[in-house]
Amino acid sequence: MSTGYLLLDKNSFNGYIECMENYKKEHARLHCANWDAGKCIGCDVRTQDNTLILYIDSKKADKECVIDEGCGYFDRVVVPGIV
Ligand code: SF4
Repeated sequence: MSTGYLLLDKNSFNGYIECMENYKKEHARLHCANWDAGKCIGCDVRTQDNTLILYIDSKKADKECVIDEGCGYFDRVVVPGIV
């Protein structure tokens, strides 16, 4: 039965964390679908009761990309697709 979680061994986890810490705006520009000329569209996804929900994060929408301070969307959604 699927838990909905991805389990990583310690080496993979440490590599994943290291990758997350090194991403900058240039990476957001190249890989993030929310990037819009330096601003963020703010689109995000989550699941609830086996339903995928697409929503706009008002804290990020139409504001400058915050990847330098850390971005949960980038870490959760974008990074697994580029490592
Ligand atoms: S703030 Fe996050 S989601 Fe928005 S453009 Fe930057 S990296 Fe992408």
